[in-house]
Amino acid sequence: MKNLRALVVADIFQGQVSPVAKDALALARLLCPKEQVAFVVCGADEKQAITLLEPFGDVAGIDIIALSGERLLEKIGDDWLHALTCLCQNLAPEFVICGWSSFFMEVAPGLAANLNAACITGVDGFEDTEKGPVFSRLMAGGAYCARVALQKKPWVICVSPGAFAKKEQGQQGKGFLGRVQQIEAALPPNRVRVMERLAPDTAESALDTARVIVAAGRGVGGPENMEVIFATAALFGRSAVAGSRPVCDAGWLPVAAQVGVTGRTVSPALYLACGISGAFQHLAAISGARCVVAVNCDGRAPIFSRADFGIVERLENFLPAFIECCQNK
Ligand SMILES: Cc1cc2nc3c(=O)[nH]c(=O)nc-3n(C[C@H](O)[C@H](O)[C@H](O)COP(=O)(O)OP(=O)(O)OC[C@H]3O[C@@H](n4cnc5c(N)ncnc54)[C@H](O)[C@@H]3O)c2cc1C
Repeated sequence: MKNLRALVVADIFQGQVSPVAKDALALARLLCPKEQVAFVVCGADEKQAITLLEPFGDVAGIDIIALSGERLLEKIGDDWLHALTCLCQNLAPEFVICGWSSFFMEVAPGLAANLNAACITGVDGFEDTEKGPVFSRLMAGGAYCARVALQKKPWVICVSPGAFAKKEQGQQGKGFLGRVQQIEAALPPNRVRVMERLAPDTAESALDTARVIVAAGRGVGGPENMEVIFATAALFGRSAVAGSRPVCDAGWLPVAAQVGVTGRTVSPALYLACGISGAFQHLAAISGARCVVAVNCDGRAPIFSRADFGIVERLENFLPAFIECCQNK
């Protein structure tokens, strides 16, 4: 593969390419022309790779590599690490770009070490400066933002969910014009084996795919008031309910529904924050939300600095009126 500069690696989850792969691809497109980008789908043959990528639509002109091997579908970090190390050593890209998902938290640092590359994690911004690309990433649980310039190549870059994909809207192509190439991954004997697979927590996967998230904070007042939060979420299609840490710690919602630096990172189209103050540990995880609406009775609450629309009102006044209004429409 000539002139390859960026290799985008897609994470596969429950038989689909994870949405964060769109962010990885969008960053690759910001860094270099599409002719210099290749997209790797692990555990798929040529045909499966094309099917998996169909919902993307924006891979037109980009070379696709189907890195095949039954075992890669098992999602064992050790296997992916080996397969990707061999592939990258062969293709020698400047950038290996993947999503900052829990799976790549396991794989990416090891890959960087094997390639003698720098690993930049949790990237949520990019500037094209005179001196080259500069990435931004949150540090110390979101308390600081670091700007990282590149020096000696190669680099493994892990992008935060929702950080780049939306910026690429309008640039989507149609069809698959790039070449599709299948490479069989040669894997050494297993060093670990999967003993059991547990079904994913539904709250967790619902947050990943929800278009609308209604999030409850301590301002909801108690578990007896959660019903109105669920009723609000039910107004929207593809919605889910999430909570701040105190809400999940108190058991008003399961721990898997927690949004924040010690919970899930989310990137819905709409994030409706109800009675959430907007601590940085919470805000750091909603930077990918397209629109944030906050309902809080304290007009000085920090959540309003992130909100696109703010409603200064008590939840017990606003939410029932809002539900009634929507139902009567
Ligand atoms: C290491 C570390 C990690 C953390 N990780 C996370 C994390 O992952 N996720 C997370 O969320 N937090 C996390 N936290 C906690 C974080 O610092 C905040 O304490 C927490 O986010 C506050 O939650 P809250 O907004 O629900 O509650 P509060 O800060 O108590 O805010 C409640 C809000 O509700 C409003 N309110 C009260 N009554 C009403 C009413 N009737 N109607 C409308 N509004 C009302 C108040 O004005 C207030 O703004 C972490 C903290 C630390 C130290």
